[in-house]
Amino acid sequence: MTRIAKRLSTVKPSASMAVSQAARELAATGVDVIDLGLGEPDFAAPLHVTEAAFKAAREGRMLYTPSLGTPELRRAVVQKLKRENGLEYAIDEIAVANGAKQIIFNALLATLNEGDEVILPAPYFVSYPEMVKLLDGVAVTPACTAENGFRLTPEVLEAAITPRTKWLFLNSPGNPSGAVYSEAQLQALGAVLNKHPHVLILSDEIYEHIRFDRRRFVSFGHACPELRERSLIVNGVSKAYAMTGWRVGYAAGPRDLIKAMATVQSQSCTSVCTVAQCAAQAALEGPQEEVERFRQAFESRRDLVTEGVRSIPGLTLAPPEGAFYAYIGCADFIGSHTRHGERIADDQDFTRFLLEEAHVAAVPGTAYGLSPFFRISTATSEVVLTEALRRIRTAVGSLKR
Ligand code: PMP
Repeated sequence: MTRIAKRLSTVKPSASMAVSQAARELAATGVDVIDLGLGEPDFAAPLHVTEAAFKAAREGRMLYTPSLGTPELRRAVVQKLKRENGLEYAIDEIAVANGAKQIIFNALLATLNEGDEVILPAPYFVSYPEMVKLLDGVAVTPACTAENGFRLTPEVLEAAITPRTKWLFLNSPGNPSGAVYSEAQLQALGAVLNKHPHVLILSDEIYEHIRFDRRRFVSFGHACPELRERSLIVNGVSKAYAMTGWRVGYAAGPRDLIKAMATVQSQSCTSVCTVAQCAAQAALEGPQEEVERFRQAFESRRDLVTEGVRSIPGLTLAPPEGAFYAYIGCADFIGSHTRHGERIADDQDFTRFLLEEAHVAAVPGTAYGLSPFFRISTATSEVVLTEALRRIRTAVGSLKR
């Protein structure tokens, strides 16, 4: 008999982490591998953030904080939501956790009963369905095609809602597709949701600041204020401030939900590292120039990758609208053969081939619920991206279609 709980039997470890592990193993044999699997900014966090952490540590801010976060950080979040998103929240409508990921986990733990459905428009962030399954929920994953810009349409949403639907997850700008929803597109989804008052909405806005071509960002909360009492707005400092390792995320939502999430938090991790909370506060309250500098770097990498991929016959990519990934179509190579006679049957075979032949690690579309695609992270230098594209071009050129 296994000692591992039944609930883990269908839960997969993070696909992007698994790809990075495979890349590390190959690199350990002496191969020069380019890992485009994991997505995290390759910049240092702004200096004033690190200094705020030093100061907090020197001042001895080393005790537990309230489970929902320090009042100072929650106040900074309230101000941020007002300033950047036009949203009005009170301090007791804000929760802080170890990253947006824990915020989402806490929200699901606080609300899901066995068999409750969560709509995850595909392609989705890899962790969403695994969290849902871990908590006895059912992931419903309607396909959002490349033709629709990988966006959920009102028709597809309507068809996915059932009496068991508990949540709809939205993620704009999206991982892995980069899709950004306009205000009108969010409102069209809001019109459907208005007809289904039992559905809660989780809007994951963690890539808010990373968007291109002067696109405006509109928070779901701003587009659909009438849905405020059943919306959870999720964000964090990981992506905007290059602070993935600090592990601070936050959410704004209705009091009853935030209170339930506080109960979960208080009985699991108590609170987020106090020094990290001080650093996150400094990020939100301090100068914002670095955010724009990072954004510009991501945009010029996006341009480089889009142009590079589009010049490789057989690969397809519409310019990503935000975030720091490219979700590349590889349908033309499904059914092709390698020079060793191996058949590429799906996008998993394709990324395996890329790792073996091009020594480039990428994540297969199966991990995001929409195939045949693969995701590369563009959060690395232009020199590395240029070399990766050169290798991919040579490798796919050797495939017999
Ligand atoms: N949401 C999305 C869509 C993400 O891509 C990520 C990170 N890869 C997260 C949430 C998690 O962010 P955090 O570091 O705040 O946990």
